[in-house]
Amino acid sequence: MARRLTGFTPSGNLHLGNYLGALRPIIEGTGDTVVFISDLHALTLDHDPADVRDRTLEFATLLLAAGLDPDACLFMVQSHVPEHTELHYLLECATGYGEAQRMIQFKEKSRRQQQVRMSLLTYPILMAADILLYDTDEVPVGDDQSQHVELARDIAIRFNGRYGDTFTVPRAVNPPVAARVMDLSSPTEKMSKSTSSAAGALRLLDEPDAVRRKVMRAVTDTGTTVTYDPAGSPGVANLLDILAGCTGARPDDLAAGFDRYGELKKAVADAVVDTLTPIQDRYRKLAAQPDHVRDVLRAGAARARAAAGATVDRAKAAIGLLPA
Ligand code: ATP
Ligand code: MG
Repeated sequence: MARRLTGFTPSGNLHLGNYLGALRPIIEGTGDTVVFISDLHALTLDHDPADVRDRTLEFATLLLAAGLDPDACLFMVQSHVPEHTELHYLLECATGYGEAQRMIQFKEKSRRQQQVRMSLLTYPILMAADILLYDTDEVPVGDDQSQHVELARDIAIRFNGRYGDTFTVPRAVNPPVAARVMDLSSPTEKMSKSTSSAAGALRLLDEPDAVRRKVMRAVTDTGTTVTYDPAGSPGVANLLDILAGCTGARPDDLAAGFDRYGELKKAVADAVVDTLTPIQDRYRKLAAQPDHVRDVLRAGAARARAAAGATVDRAKAAIGLLPA
């Protein structure tokens, strides 16, 4: 069975796009999956230590509240498995400086910053380590991350070619159709933890009132009829996609049921509230037992280390390190 891997970086707030596009397919899927909180990746940009620590626990709690079964997958915090950084270094020794510098995300993010951290340049190599450690076959990613998965693929192929067969060569796969939830106030851009404004993102922990307010103010278009046309009418299409994601219906079928934008927005707000309420109820219960969540994470890290340790041993031997 193909193994898939998904990471959630604990910066900003988890949103409906993370849930519909990444988390729910894992929860509803039957596959062999690795899910982790990529806390080391949160250190590549200016960060607040307490915030990263708190969000790591919050994200883990939310993932469990959303229905992630920690016994059915590998579920852990990245920094609890030191093999990630250990393999990172070995992979740096198989990556060209120019190769890392060419990453579009590095160019864009470094342009916006005065002080660029070295880790922002090398983070795609850490991501390659995340992927290769667990013999991952498939990484579901949007366009913004596909270049990084390509890099992981290139590194794996090069390493295997130079030092002998060591890594499974991964590939990027598209998330399910309509899994790209767009920003409510700027519907040609994806809903994002780091770049969406508070009005543009529906946070998993938003109260029902906030959800309704944001959906009712979502940017639509100047037209008045409700049709599913992602290119010509992205705001309305996004609302239909969200409604489809929450109800299981098809967005073009849904469009026929509404005469006015106001009706559509009301239905979307209700559907999102219905989707989020049970998750929030479970979140509140789990958040009251942080020791339980931390036990789950510790057990996950122990299982992950067993798998990751074997890969690191293979890579060390192949690259020429003398066993201790
Ligand atoms: P950031 O802005 O910090 O990159 P993000 O919102 O893109 O945050 P990530 O932590 O990068 O979130 O991604 C977590 C998972 O959620 C990934 O699998 C990613 O593909 C998915 N994802 C992120 N945004 C969306 C979206 N708008 N629609 C669908 N899936 C998304
Ligand atoms: Mg992202």
